This record gives sequence, C-alpha cells and structure tokens, in this order.
Amino acid sequence: MNASLPVSDVIAAMPMPALAISSDERVIAFNTDAQRLLEIQVKGDHFITVLRQPSVVEAVEACLTGTPQATATYLARESGNDVTYTVSVSQVGETGIALLTFQDITMVTAAGQMRRDFVANVSHELRTPLTALMGFIETLQGPARDDAPTRNRFLGIMQTETERMNRLVGDLLSLSRVEVDERVRPTTQVDVAGILASTLRTLAPVAAQADVILLPDIPDTPVMLIADMDQLMQVFTNLIENAIKYGGQGKHVFVTLTEHDRVSALRCAGVEVNVRDEGAGIENRHLPRLTERFYRADSHRSREVGGTGLGLAIVKHILNRHRGRLKISSKVGEGSEFKVFLRTTE
Ligand code: ADP
Repeated sequence: MNASLPVSDVIAAMPMPALAISSDERVIAFNTDAQRLLEIQVKGDHFITVLRQPSVVEAVEACLTGTPQATATYLARESGNDVTYTVSVSQVGETGIALLTFQDITMVTAAGQMRRDFVANVSHELRTPLTALMGFIETLQGPARDDAPTRNRFLGIMQTETERMNRLVGDLLSLSRVEVDERVRPTTQVDVAGILASTLRTLAPVAAQADVILLPDIPDTPVMLIADMDQLMQVFTNLIENAIKYGGQGKHVFVTLTEHDRVSALRCAGVEVNVRDEGAGIENRHLPRLTERFYRADSHRSREVGGTGLGLAIVKHILNRHRGRLKISSKVGEGSEFKVFLRTTE
C-alpha cells in the first residue's frame, strides 16, 4: 500500500461501519455507515464518548497499548430490531492508529439459534417415544414376561410409538428435501384436478377408518398449471389428513377446487383448493404460527392422533417454491378452513 494513502480515504471506501482512533485516543476518521451506527458528529472526540460499550472500549484500549488485534461485540438497535456486530480492532502498521470495523453478524447468530432450537426440538420429539419403548421393553423382559394379555397390549403401544418415530423421520426428510429445492421453480405441466382426485382416492380408507365423510367438489376436466406433482400431492395429503384427524368422528370434510381469473393473494389468475372441516377449530392466536416447525395449537390432541408438528411447515415450504399461498381461517367450535392458492399464469 502507498504509505501516503490517507486513512480517511481507506475508511470511506470500506463497505461496513469503520473508524480510526489515533494514539492520543481521538476519533480521527469515520465513514457514513459508522456515522449512522454510532451517531458520531465530528472528528476529534474521545473514543469512549463515541463507543460507550465497555467491551469495545476495552478492545480499543488493548490495541492502543500494544495488542496488534482485538475483537469485541457491539449491540445496537436499528429500526426497532436488535443488531449484533463483531468489532475488529487492529493496529495500522507502526502509526499507532487503531482501525475499527463493524461486521453485522445478526443473521449468522439467528441462524445458529434456529439450528440449536431445531436440534433440541427433534431430540425432544424422538426422546418421548424412545423413553416409552425402553420402559415397555424392560417390563416385557421382567414382570410381564409370562403375561400374554399385557404383552400384547404393550406390543400394540410399542408399534404405535415406533410408527410415530418413523413418521417423524419421514417428515424430517421431506422437509429437508423441500428446503433443498425451494429456490428451484417447478417446470412441468400438471393437472391439479387429477392430482387432488387421486389424493382423495388414496385417503378414502383413512377417512373411512376415522368415520369421516369426504365431500369433494372437483372439476372432472383437467386444470393445468406448472408444478411438482409429488409435492402438490403432499400438500393436499397433509391438509386433508389434518382435516380428517382434527375434524372428528361422524363429521364431514369438504374439498373443493375452484378456478379464478384473479386471485388477489397472488395478483394473477389461479386455482383455489379449499379443505374445510367441522372439527373443534383453532383459536385465532395460534393461526399465524401454525406453519412453524413443531408448532401445535393443541399438543395433546396432535400427539393423540399421531401428529409430528411438521405437516404444515412442509406445506408452507412447498407453496413457497410454487409461489403459492396458504390462508387459514377457523372458528372455535365450528371448524377450520385451509385455502391453497396456486398460480395458473407465470
Ligand atoms: P401435526 O402433525 O401436529 O398435525 P401440522 O403441522 O400438520 O402438525 O399442524 C400443526 C398444528 O395445527 C396441529 O398440531 C394442530 O394443532 C393444528 N391443526 C392443523 N390442522 C388442523 C385442523 N384441520 N383442525 C384443527 N387444528 C389443526
């Protein structure tokens, strides 16, 4: 680097908040990002009045007294959000100047927290059935060894718990697959009416078993759009299965497909697939969070019906990939309605 290059020009060119502090502890240069972040008015102020946060002040002091490089964390609030910066403080050659750069690590921190939460959730979801299985195996090896009726009952419960774990692992794999290609737009022409009809045929035995009546209203002519057939089938399966699970015995599940010249949620022409049940409904406060992974409005009921808490998260990711929308409405005591909007034009 040219020895005569002015520090202030270097700082002005940096793509992040940056400032320089002289050996006599004054702020001698800063760029506009630093000005905005630290609300610096003029050059020449003592660095403590500008930086204020103790860990950053300590790092600067260390650097000015001989440590070549130090780091600190700076916490800020910008437009109502908490923002975390890693501050690097470095000596600039032999000049005695300390150079500070602020790197925004908010997203990295949030992603790390999300990953930790996710692992904790998965571990918890798996631990519950595993603990139950371990307890039953122990009992079957000991006290219930020669008790045939108890053995059969326990084996039945063990099967249910194993199936739950299997579903959970299946849903986790689906979710990760969907996330992998979420940014890749589908390219094939499919018949959404045919896909919906075929999903309903597959689910007919599940509905019969639960004593729920499926009432479809689907055009018998093809309704074409660009989509991933397997993924649409998964969306419809998850929603109709939920309506069967949470709808309740003896109740109806209405499944309709309607074409619209304009869907306001999409701002273009599209189809609406509507799945409505007559179940207990969902309180309003839960609605915005239902598509979060492992979020359950009624965890007791979800576990009772073998839910994994991932079905609607999968639906949301698939619809994102298709640039579609999901709208949920519900009335406690009357039932819930899940509307899927898919675009028929590009
Ligand atoms: P789960 O496997 O628990 O059903 P989902 O992601 O499919 O997970 O749904 C999330 C939560 O939303 C469920 O636990 C349940 O509380 C609620 N929910 C979903 N669909 C319905 C419905 N049709 N009626 C009432 N509650 C529902």
